[in-house]
Amino acid sequence: MAVQNDTQWISFAIFAVVMLGISLAFAVPTGVSASKRGMNALGWGALAFFTWLMGLLLFLLCKNPVIDDVVCVKCGNRIPKNHVYCPFCGYKE
Ligand SMILES: [Zn+2]
Repeated sequence: MAVQNDTQWISFAIFAVVMLGISLAFAVPTGVSASKRGMNALGWGALAFFTWLMGLLLFLLCKNPVIDDVVCVKCGNRIPKNHVYCPFCGYKE
């Protein structure tokens, strides 16, 4: 009986580790991607962690474009890469 309990415990431990691994596999890329897009990395990561594919799909539907901006040499504000004029100070890149 004791041996069977041990086996059950190990099975449960493996199951828990696999579940955690899958959760992280969804949560980490979602969180990283969210932070690159200026979104709530922790919130989206947590959503994907608990809902797996649901959270990931929801994220893909709601995601903002990647923030690919540069820093204005004059005023230091972050401006979109393709901007000719800085929207903050009017400096021409
Ligand atoms: Zn500027």
